[in-house]
Amino acid sequence: MLSGFGDDPFAAEPLTGSGGVPDGAKPPASNAPSKRKREPGARGVKQAEAGKTCFVKSCEDDKLVGKKWCCRHNRLYDNLWTQAKKSNETAAVQQAVSTPEGADHALSDFERDNPPHAKYARKSVIQWGQFKRVHVVSQTTRSRNGCKPYEWKQWLKRCEQKMGWAAADAKKLWNHYSTAQEIDKDHEGLNGAIRLWIPTIEATHNDTDRSRTFAFEEGGAQERDMDEDHRQVLMDHCLHSGKGTNQADNNFLQGRAVNGPETDNSEVPELQTPKKNKELNDPASKDNPSPEDEKKRKRLEKLARGPAFEAHKATMVHKLKEKMKGLDNLMATVGEKIREAHAEMANDRQDAVKLSYLKAMEAGTALLEVWKTEVELPACEGKPEELKDLPDVVARAQTAFCDKCELLKDLVQPVNSKATCFTRAALGWFHSISEKTTCIFLLERIATEMKDHAAVIDQFARGLQKVATDAKNFQSQQKRKAQQDEAKKKREEEKKAASEATALAKAAAKKVKSGSKGRRPMWPWSANAIRSRERPFDLSRGACARKEQLHTWARIQLQTDRS
Ligand SMILES: [Zn+2]
Repeated sequence: MLSGFGDDPFAAEPLTGSGGVPDGAKPPASNAPSKRKREPGARGVKQAEAGKTCFVKSCEDDKLVGKKWCCRHNRLYDNLWTQAKKSNETAAVQQAVSTPEGADHALSDFERDNPPHAKYARKSVIQWGQFKRVHVVSQTTRSRNGCKPYEWKQWLKRCEQKMGWAAADAKKLWNHYSTAQEIDKDHEGLNGAIRLWIPTIEATHNDTDRSRTFAFEEGGAQERDMDEDHRQVLMDHCLHSGKGTNQADNNFLQGRAVNGPETDNSEVPELQTPKKNKELNDPASKDNPSPEDEKKRKRLEKLARGPAFEAHKATMVHKLKEKMKGLDNLMATVGEKIREAHAEMANDRQDAVKLSYLKAMEAGTALLEVWKTEVELPACEGKPEELKDLPDVVARAQTAFCDKCELLKDLVQPVNSKATCFTRAALGWFHSISEKTTCIFLLERIATEMKDHAAVIDQFARGLQKVATDAKNFQSQQKRKAQQDEAKKKREEEKKAASEATALAKAAAKKVKSGSKGRRPMWPWSANAIRSRERPFDLSRGACARKEQLHTWARIQLQTDRS
């Protein structure tokens, strides 16, 4: 089983593991590597890094050292990458897994068709799909025998009133059933009264069933001589698929469009109300921690003090810093894109659409500026309250940003107004709390929530960028249309000139014709017949005398044809 990889590495240390190692037992440390070796499809030994979770949003497992993912997701990602490389779609994969939510979606979709095993690194289990419509009429002779649960009074009533038996017989039967081995019993009756499952259902049916089935069947190539390991992988995949972790499958089972929205239209969580599964407070404040939370808490506690804590903190703070740098760069790029698109359009304020784009881009630039506002951060103590009670300067920057968003929302609204988009100033504040804090849980909470904050900020930036892209597209579309119109006009002019030339030539021909003898020739032979030299003229009807005139006529006809 793959879960062997996710084991807490600290559990291997004899004294720190909960309960310690029983006497005489083999120390787990020497056990683990050989166990790993036997894992089917395992590629090298990878170690989990305690206290840092997998990048996938819904995954609470520890990530592997030097990787973004936990063991299971790492393997899925590797396989996804291999397949994407084969079809030159790595860019799409990169884009898809760039956010925790995106990665969740992409990997869960991929996992549906690709068990996390080396065998499926290169090919998907599902290789074809076929729509089928089946009409079935089936004739069935069905006999049904079954039991129904009875409480004593209910049984008595049935025997006396429905069956017309004596109460004594009913009692006798009840006693017989209550001691019989084959009769199921439970205590689901009124106030926990005993119920006996007595065989009272007897029925025979002659049914004709008609059904119409629409099915979409999917499958892979038939595999012969499947070995036991491989068979196990597919069996496990069935079990895993059956759990319905895939959104598309869940939607289908509930009769919704497969690519429909998720069940809960939950907004992006705010700082004050983090999502339940991501909440990682001080352990004392939690009433009923789930086993996973409990496990994670224990893991974090091991990192809570001394050098382990300092090292962990340094990594977290560094990551936060990197994240902020990334966002700064993103904002700079977006600002540049808006400036470019704006400059391209700026001289054309007459067109209503363009004017609207220009205004939206100006609003976007204003929002970007307010978002970036730098403030002088006050001293910070690294306390949990400081996460909520933002210092005045930060709170003011945040309010100014929200006000601006509200003010400009008719022009541009990159993020939903219900989502909290933190400004650069707020991020700076969270960073200083991380630097100062001595509490592992606070550190963890900031790191976890930062994923959500970054996602909203990212959305904000992409939303603004889209305005610039749309404006650019509109601009080039218009250019293309102008070019097409120009080309069309040119074509039409050429056509007109050509038809005028034809008309002119025809008129000239007519003139020549009418000028010759004042009437049409007697034998309107086709010009072709005359042009072909092999064919002798049919002169049998006395055309000799008019030979010369005929030739003239034919020449004119030829000219007209050519033009
Ligand atoms: Zn994971």
